[in-house]
Amino acid sequence: MSEARIIDGRALAAKLREGVAARVETLKSKHGLTPGLAVVIVGENPASQIYIRNKARMTTESGMNSFEHRLLATTTQDELLGLVEKLNDDSAVHGILVQLPLPDQIDEAAVMEAINPEKDVDGFHLVNVGLLATGGDGLVPCTPLGCLLMLRAEVDELKGKRALIVGRSNIVGKPMAQLLLREHCTVTIAHSRTRDLAAECRNADILVAAVGVAHLIKGDWIKPGAVVIDVGQNVVPAPGKGDGKTQLIGDVEFEAAIKTAGAITPVPGGVGPMTIACLLKNTVSAACRQAGINEHSL
Ligand code: NDP
Repeated sequence: MSEARIIDGRALAAKLREGVAARVETLKSKHGLTPGLAVVIVGENPASQIYIRNKARMTTESGMNSFEHRLLATTTQDELLGLVEKLNDDSAVHGILVQLPLPDQIDEAAVMEAINPEKDVDGFHLVNVGLLATGGDGLVPCTPLGCLLMLRAEVDELKGKRALIVGRSNIVGKPMAQLLLREHCTVTIAHSRTRDLAAECRNADILVAAVGVAHLIKGDWIKPGAVVIDVGQNVVPAPGKGDGKTQLIGDVEFEAAIKTAGAITPVPGGVGPMTIACLLKNTVSAACRQAGINEHSL
């Protein structure tokens, strides 16, 4: 059997960003509207710092305005809520993203709920969660949206496929399940209490792994021909590269899985780039809705 196709997340993301940039150009020239994304980061988490730097760069490269708010790790909940309120009222800001995790003194849920749902480009506000669950038209969390776009690009017909999602977090697993249900897949969600994960995997035409355990899913668990989306990002020691050197690997045993899968995303270079591209896409959607413009007419 031939090896799996490698789904090139970087290339798909670049294409998605090109489409975003073209729509931003039309919004500017036809409607005099420049979408703006505000990113708020509290504290010095190094991974978050890199992530938001990339977000800001790609936002401006797409022609949008980027507003960065870097707050001290000692920021109080009231101070952060005050900033969110200001951004909610700022007509130049169409999308608000508060980078998680937040320091312990801040209640993340309270902050998420304070964001105007129309500006909630992360799709974490209960209004958007509810809209996704009930088939409404809200803002969808970026990582699962990116996974769905990759699946749509790879699979001719999602309808009727057996989809297994491993992981049930509010930011990846659950919204992914809702999206695939919407596509008429037969959806199973596995988690840490699932009895026989290998058997569940062997049944899946589509497997989305969002766990955070390096190489949890073994190559011989993959159904022949299945499409595998690996969301996991696990930093592990890099073999043979000396002390302290690390590498990023997924939740799926990639080298073994490519022998059985029909298509698979690599880590890095799979889901990661699509997440940021979807954030830009959501910002354009949010700007259009706030201005009463039909996004599909652009
Ligand atoms: P969470 O820790 O919130 O959720 C992990 C899920 O995996 C939980 O539902 C947990 O089950 C389940 N789980 C844990 N161990 C097992 C196991 N042994 N067998 C089956 N299920 C298990 O993680 P996130 O959803 O936030 O993230 C998942 C991964 O995706 C991480 O590696 C993260 O870094 C990555 N990620 C990547 C993004 C990207 O842009 N590429 C964006 C977001 C996340 P239970 O509920 O029972 O505890």
